[in-house]
Amino acid sequence: MIQWRLYVGRADNVNDMGSAPGKDSGRARVDSATSVSGPVVSLEGVKKSFGVGTLVETEVLHGIDIKLEKGEFASLIGPSGSGKSTLLNIIGLLDRPTSGKLFINGQDAAALDDAAITRLRGRTIGFIFQAHYLLSAFTALENVMMPILLERSRPDDAMRDTAKELLEKVGLTKWQDNLSANMSGGQQQRVAIARALALKPSLVLADEPTGNLDTQATKSVFNLMREISASSGTTFLLVTHNLNLARQCDRTIELLDGRVEANQKSSLGKQGTAGTDFVADSH
Ligand code: ADP
Ligand code: MG
Repeated sequence: MIQWRLYVGRADNVNDMGSAPGKDSGRARVDSATSVSGPVVSLEGVKKSFGVGTLVETEVLHGIDIKLEKGEFASLIGPSGSGKSTLLNIIGLLDRPTSGKLFINGQDAAALDDAAITRLRGRTIGFIFQAHYLLSAFTALENVMMPILLERSRPDDAMRDTAKELLEKVGLTKWQDNLSANMSGGQQQRVAIARALALKPSLVLADEPTGNLDTQATKSVFNLMREISASSGTTFLLVTHNLNLARQCDRTIELLDGRVEANQKSSLGKQGTAGTDFVADSH
């Protein structure tokens, strides 16, 4: 499953990435996730076209300027087809802009070849999707260990301890040995959150992570992400159709027809969460 290979950060090649200019660019140093000051994400005039060079070339992002600071918890909203997923894929280094600049932790993505992009993505970015993509034949703990295992290739106690700590953080210690297939939707999404955090990313990108959840589980999963962001300084960008959630983020970016229609700090800001204690509630 290609998506799994991508979001654990170990895809050997990324066919849709195209090639970066410059033969030696792959040797550009990739800084670790935490060593850089300045914005975690910076886009300058980013455009994206599909079908370039064909009769059906279509520009779907028309010049996007966005900055996300360390620890910022931002939402991305906009109608279906406005370009949210395309933008998330670009920020997540799963696709390249057609033009414009993209910096992740100060790294100019255009200067990196595909192998370096894959390394940067693996070290820096965690992904959470609407569908959790857990491996159903594995336990919660094994699912959380998976990205670390792929990164380090040999299981060890430290890896298991890290995964246990992450499951504790998402309130699932009691369920760590359950097969993921036997967990509720909210619990599965919590496991997916723990897995996204396994390699200590500085940025988590979440594409409608609560889209399949009921109201209670939505609150609980949202609060959990908010809490993790606040306690670890992880930057989050959350695509959501839920305006109630968007209002509770630090910043709301609204896309309309491939343009940033609004980009403002939320009035509710850091004031808090959707009202449910995340540890006690394990929906
Ligand atoms: P959203 O996530 O906001 O619903 P998308 O980013 O999925 O929007 O899509 C934005 C626009 O780009 C849509 O018109 C969609 O049809 C188009 N699009 C997305 N991916 C592709 C692709 N791979 N090839 C051609 N068009 C695409
Ligand atoms: Mg989408």
